[in-house]
Amino acid sequence: MSGLDELYKEVILDHYRSPRNRGKLEPSDFDLHRDNPLCGDEVHLYGHIEDGKLVGVSFEGKGCSISQASTSMMTERVKGVSLADDERLGDLAALQGVQKYPVRIKCALLGWNTLLEGLKTYKDKAGG
Ligand code: ZN
Repeated sequence: MSGLDELYKEVILDHYRSPRNRGKLEPSDFDLHRDNPLCGDEVHLYGHIEDGKLVGVSFEGKGCSISQASTSMMTERVKGVSLADDERLGDLAALQGVQKYPVRIKCALLGWNTLLEGLKTYKDKAGG
């Protein structure tokens, strides 16, 4: 195993043990619950939007270390992102999952997919 893989493993464990942005978000503009039945992972994601930007994001969940750590890392990366950028977010999500965990892609992408769906729901509701 390369040094980089070791490093990444440590980052995963760190986020798994001490998840960032964990808990309910008040107020929130969307919240949704998704799961990955293959592995038993669950994520409940909250998002708060102001002036077309995702100003707050948090999550609750349970499951394997990859699903929970990926979601925790995701919340750190997406805060402040513009809703107009969600295509870029999709690319970022795909990149992260495929690069690191081709076999566990459903785990790695659970949080990301939940976020993208939440943003889409919000935009549809707001009329585009
Ligand atoms: Zn999993």
